[in-house]
Amino acid sequence: MKMVRCCSCGWIEPEDNFTPDCPVCHHPKAGVENLTYDSDFDDRDVEALWSWFANVPINDQDEIMEDFLGWNAGTDRFEIWHWFDAHYFGGVHALLEQD
Ligand SMILES: [Zn+2]
Repeated sequence: MKMVRCCSCGWIEPEDNFTPDCPVCHHPKAGVENLTYDSDFDDRDVEALWSWFANVPINDQDEIMEDFLGWNAGTDRFEIWHWFDAHYFGGVHALLEQD
């Protein structure tokens, strides 16, 4: 799942959902930023990414089964949890409580 952020309104969705425009502000597809875990995020962004991460399939060895935000398929999901933990105020526990 390739994640992008609308340069106009800041909305984050998988790139495939931006066809042809941002689903929120209808900014042209040319105005999106490709995102990886090295991009800059605020808490609202991390919340959006967390909800999309919930849609990434996980195998029975706790590895993600498709690429997500710069992590390759096969990455341990807990490595990604650590990233969320470090990038969200309140950490993963706060994210889990929102679900
Ligand atoms: Zn937008």
